[in-house]
Amino acid sequence: MEKQRTNENAVMPVVQHARRMTKEKYEEIQNYRVRKCQTIEELHRIHEKPVMTLRANYPGEDKNNEITRLVNREIAKTFDEIFQTKILAVENFDTPEGPTTFYVVKGDARTLKENAIYIEQSHELGRFVDIDVYDIDEEYAVTRVELAYEPRKCFLCDEPAKECSRNKTHKTQDLVDYMIEEVREYLENI
Ligand SMILES: [Zn+2]
Repeated sequence: MEKQRTNENAVMPVVQHARRMTKEKYEEIQNYRVRKCQTIEELHRIHEKPVMTLRANYPGEDKNNEITRLVNREIAKTFDEIFQTKILAVENFDTPEGPTTFYVVKGDARTLKENAIYIEQSHELGRFVDIDVYDIDEEYAVTRVELAYEPRKCFLCDEPAKECSRNKTHKTQDLVDYMIEEVREYLENI
């Protein structure tokens, strides 16, 4: 992919639609993934450091909502405490995949991923976010598997989340209800 030359291209439009997964929606997500890739490459080019993305993993259709913004905000606080002065740049966007924060962070990408897994596993809302790490010159995010961690488990059963998602094991509404309930309990206890 051609490298971006201006900062302008790093800005992604706000997308907020509540509708079923149509061909249009599919294309919107595919187009966004290309822009996401360009944004990461641009941040790599400017800073020459790994890029991390933080995104609430919402099982429903309208991914930019109060719940996902709250989850992102809460996890971002822990993210800031853990990485502190290693964070060189931060950009926030509402995207078709939900609110997403891009961070440029100093350090070894695999160690950063281990810290990210720690947040996903130890924070009360950690199971509702995906934190990915993109090393310089690598097209794909560092995976849990290459660091010998198990794949992420589903919220509702103990199966790998990807299998439940692929097999449509659970109703979307059940997953959304569970997330809302967990966030509500979290808010009552902070
Ligand atoms: Zn499941």
